Parts: sequence; C-alpha cells; structure tokens
Amino acid sequence: MPGTRPPSHPVEPRRLLALAAVVLLLWLTGRPEVPAPGDRQPPWAPEPLAAQEPPPRPQGQVVQIRFRSWKELQALVAQVDVWQVRRDRPGSDTGILVAWVTPAQLRSLREAGHPVTPDPLHTDTLRRPWTRLPGQRQGIPGFACYRTVEETYRDLADLAAAYPDIARLVDFGDTYDKVTPGGPAGYDLLDLVLTNRLRAVPEKGTLVVLAATHARELATAEVATRFAELLVEGYGRDPDLTWLLDFNEIHIIPYGNPDGRKWAEQGYLWRKNTDNPAACGFPYYGVDLNRNASFLWDVCPGCSSPDPCSIIYRGPRPGSEPETQALEARLRQVFGDFKGPQLADPPSPETNGIFLSLHSFGELIIYPWDWTGSPAPNQAALVTLGRKFGYYTNYAVCNTSNCLYAIDGSQTDYAYGQLGVAAYTFELGTTFFQSCQSFESQVLGPNLDALRYAAKAAYRPYGLPAGPEVLDVAVRPTRLYPGMPLRVTARADDTRYRSQGYGVEPSQAIGGARVTLDRPGWLGAETAGTLEPADGAFDAPQEELVGWLDTTGWPPGRHTLFVQAQDADGNWGVPTAVFVWILTPEGLEVAVEPGTTLEAAPGETRTFTVTLTNRLTVTDTYRLDVLRTDWPVGLSRRRGGVPPGQTLSMPVSVTVPQGTPPGTRGQTVLQIASNTVPFRAVQVTLQVHAVLSSVQESTAPAARAVYLPWVGGPPR
Ligand SMILES: [Zn+2]
Repeated sequence: MPGTRPPSHPVEPRRLLALAAVVLLLWLTGRPEVPAPGDRQPPWAPEPLAAQEPPPRPQGQVVQIRFRSWKELQALVAQVDVWQVRRDRPGSDTGILVAWVTPAQLRSLREAGHPVTPDPLHTDTLRRPWTRLPGQRQGIPGFACYRTVEETYRDLADLAAAYPDIARLVDFGDTYDKVTPGGPAGYDLLDLVLTNRLRAVPEKGTLVVLAATHARELATAEVATRFAELLVEGYGRDPDLTWLLDFNEIHIIPYGNPDGRKWAEQGYLWRKNTDNPAACGFPYYGVDLNRNASFLWDVCPGCSSPDPCSIIYRGPRPGSEPETQALEARLRQVFGDFKGPQLADPPSPETNGIFLSLHSFGELIIYPWDWTGSPAPNQAALVTLGRKFGYYTNYAVCNTSNCLYAIDGSQTDYAYGQLGVAAYTFELGTTFFQSCQSFESQVLGPNLDALRYAAKAAYRPYGLPAGPEVLDVAVRPTRLYPGMPLRVTARADDTRYRSQGYGVEPSQAIGGARVTLDRPGWLGAETAGTLEPADGAFDAPQEELVGWLDTTGWPPGRHTLFVQAQDADGNWGVPTAVFVWILTPEGLEVAVEPGTTLEAAPGETRTFTVTLTNRLTVTDTYRLDVLRTDWPVGLSRRRGGVPPGQTLSMPVSVTVPQGTPPGTRGQTVLQIASNTVPFRAVQVTLQVHAVLSSVQESTAPAARAVYLPWVGGPPR
C-alpha cells in the first residue's frame, strides 16, 4: 500500500465528494483485510475477507497552529484532529497545537487568521510504507515491534495456557462490529487477569491497565502486553514481580477498541470505534470511546462533539457504545466503590485500586478531572501518585486543563468519579506511529517501570505513594540455616517524584524501616526486624539502611522479605522484596509425642517427649536447648551420643503457671543441635493451652514427626 503523500495541490471539494462516494461503495462491498500469510488464525480472528485494494487514505498533513488563549484552543480542538498540545510554559494559556488537517481545513484555518506552519516531522510519519518490511514475519506492516490484534490475543491466550495458576484470559464483552449484523466479524474484548489464584489473601490490590482505546495509538497495546509478559515471566524469579502477583490482581486489557485498531494497523489515522458507517464517509465515522462514558457525558462546551464525523464525536447517548458498556461493567466488577455520590465527595483513604488508560502521545501523565480545571476532591493524593509516574517516565504531570484541553465523557473520569479509584491517562511516546527503534529504546522501559510502581501502590494508591521507596535490597547470606543471623541492606528514598514543571512534591527525612516476612506489612504481618540508618541518624530523605534479622524458627524453604520505609511524617511507602532460602539439615529427624500441642489447667505440668533420629552414617552427639519459653520448662536430659540409625528421647515438661487465664497459649521453642557440625540443628515449637480444668487425655493430634531445620548461634 502506498504511503500518504502530502498534497502537491489543493484537492477540489467536488473531487473529495467523488472520493467519499467511492469509499462508501467500497465499504458496502466489504471491508478489505490484509491477512498475514502463514499466521495461525486464533478462534476469535475475524473472517478473512477477499484481498482487494483498500480504500485510499485521505489527503492531509500535520501542521502546527498557534493558539493565543484557552478559549481559542478549546475551539480548535472541536474543529481539527488535534495530535498534541505544547504549551509555551507549564500551564500557560498560549502555545502550539499539532494537528492533522485536510487541505480544506488548512485553507479555512488560514482564512480565519490562525498562524499555521507545516510540521514535516509528523507528516513524515504518515508517509512511511504500510507494507511488510523485508523479512518481516509478524506485527503491523512496517512495525515489527507492534503485534496485530490477532497476534496479541493469540500470545495472551498462550500465556494463560502456559501459566494457568497466575494468568487467565477473560472475555468481558463484544465490539460494535461483533454485535452488529453484516460487516466485519468484530472482536471479543479480552482482559488478561494476572494473580496467583492459589494464594488466598484477605484483600488484594487491584490494577487495571487499558490500552488502545484510540485505534491509531499504536505503542499503547504493546506496552500493556509487554507488561503482562514481564509479570508472568518474572513470577517466581524476581521477588518483586512475584509478590505483585501473590498480593495483587492485575488486569491487562490490551485493546479497548479492536475494531478501530484493525483500520489503524493498515495505516489509517483511525481513532474511534467503527459505529455507524452510514453517518459519515470513510474514514470519519465511529464514536470516540474516550468521550462516550455514561458519566460526565457532554457536560462542558467544546469538550466533545455532537458531529458524527468529528474525531471527538461523543456518540448519541451517554455510554451508547458496546465497548463503553463492557468496559464500565468490567471496572465496576473488579473495583470496589470508594466514592460517595456527589462529585465533591472525596474517595476513601482506604481506596484500593488504580486504573490506567494508556494513550499516545505527548509525554503526559494526566490525573482527574478531565472535564474541568477545578481540583478533584483529593487532588493532592492524585498528584502525589502522578509524580511517581512522572519520576519513572519523565513526563509532565498535570490535568487536561493544564496541559491538554478539557474533555468530557472520559474513561478515567468515570473510574475516578464513579468508583473513586486512582485513575490516570498516560500519553506515552512522541507520535502515533512511533518507530520501533524509539519505542524499544525510549518509550517501553520507562513506562514499564511506571506500571510496575502502579502495581506496587495499587493496594492503597492514596497513601503508599507519599512514603519513601526502598531500593537495592540485599541479604547476606541468601541461603542459610534457621537461626543464623541474616544481614539486610537497602536504601530508602523519599525524593522520587517529578512533574516536568507542574509543581514540586515535598520530601521528608526517612523516619524508619521495617522488614516483614512473607507478607507485606499492611496485611498484619509481624515485623521480623527493623533497619537502622547506616550513618547513625535518620535525618535525610535518602538513607542507607542496614540491619540484622534473627531467623530462629523460620521454616525451611524460600521466603520473601518485604522491606518498607517510612518518612518522618509517618507515611509508609511501597515495599521492595528480596528472596532468602532457609535450608534443612540432612539426616536429622525429630518427632514429638504425644504431639506439639497439649492442654493443661493452671498449676499442671505436661510432658512432651522429643525423640531425635540420627540418619547420618556416623555417630553424632546432640544437645537440647530452650531458645525461648513463655512458661517454666523442665529438662531431664539435655545431651547424648547417637549411633547411625539410632534414636535419643528427651522429655520436656512445661508447667502452666498458677493464675493463668484459661485460653492463654504458652509457647516453648526448642533447638536440637549437633555438637560437632555448626548450624546443624532443628527447631521445634511446643504449645500448651491453658484450660479451665485438667483433662485426662490430650485433645491434641496424634504424635507426628516434625522436620525443622535449624541453625544456630548460641541459645539465648
Ligand atoms: Zn488517545
């Protein structure tokens, strides 16, 4: 297919009309499709249509239009296809608007006295050939880095099939073409749900990432898909990616508008869905799905258009489109409702959930409201999280009125205004048809980092971002026997915010740091230890941290340490995790009879018999120590030599003190250690429940073997 050439001479209106008629005819006779040769067709692929010459792309070019007031900007937005707004200064009312214009629009802009200059760089992105590159086997023609709708859906289905415990592909609705008889087959709307389904957690953080609502914003779907792949492939390997799926539910919706995307993949500047082709000539029909929400629809002048041919057509009714209805239902399903009914009601500080709508382009992070410049009820908290995203992406952090133009019926205003979740629009990259070279080297990495932070903060998006981040967490050693001291080092940083000129986030000195074992601190995990400032004082917003953890009693296997830091104002930040492995000594077995849990009345004594078996091939000597105990313990035998295959029994008596309230539990932690091999030890925890009166028989379970590893240091 040839590229769009800039018009060498103005096209006459009569010729445009004829062109539109031809295009309409082509539409009625069936939409052309360019099937990828050799591609496996997934079950939801549209019916391949007969290959024929696709409709020509309309003539036009990209220009820069100077605007001199906010009002003028908003008026221009309703007239032309705006690509980008560049304010002269952050938040200023003057600047340059980058827009695609037809020759007729260009003439009328000039006649109206608008200063207009060509934008050859952006126009150039339209000229590129929309055919496969030499050797290109997959991807959008000319863009090997961007998967087609079919390829993305296939890859995500493969991912879900390969990792059924953590990934599930959910069909949550149908597109306009799919629900409309005749025409193209259309698509399912798919949500890849990522979470460790085997791990029950009282409350998982929820993150929804939506991409490609606007069809031509090519890079967005690929960012979302790569994020899904990063999470799934890193699960079990990268400690942070692992806990993100253990303690969160992350939804990846790669295409909000696959029907329109199909046109964009063929090189059309398609933005909207494909609703109502009869309303307008090709390629101007469709509804702008980011102006069509059922909430705050058509509430501000110039924020959307009633004209079905406009690039920002809001549709005939609030939430009129099948894509809008499906998305809103999905958001209501996966998020709780944290907001009161009034616009001015602030969301709960306990709000759980972040909604990110990925768009391009302009290098912006946009927080609500979209429809007004008035502050959102909890704007400060929205800005704080926005500046975290700004830190990672280096994008400007602002709302539409400050750095773009006001819009209504948007997806993020719906998510924030109806449900209270923290909702942002990312305008990523520097053009719609972003080159693969700049996508891979500049756009992808920073946005993946921002998405990763979003996943970390999803549990409490209005609290965690105010706290410091923890970086460079390291443990020594990484593999150890329980009881060996574990050294943890990290760095806490409360300065990681950026806005590109849209205000400065205050930073505080670091106030403290804690480590929790196997769960984030917010789930009520006991603190396994604290970290102290390496320089002796918590007095700066960046601190090196160091601490020693007592690993006594840690069961064998892999553990996750969550390190969280707090600022001087008491804000805890998101955790950073690290793995540590607790080893089991071989050949040392311990059994407890009649069980590790017994009952006794106050004043009574219960006796456990601890029996160890030496599975080594040599005789060893062992020692029994009490590491800690709530109640008095009596030991009648504390050490002995054990030949290979033989056992040694050591009675342990625990007395419930007089006056202990019934229901109280006393714990005794024992260690059986080899006298000859350092850190060759097993720990056993015994429990006694205080009851009202003596019971003849313990209700504890029958004797069972306990195989606990152990290790070291001298008993305390
Ligand atoms: Zn967009």
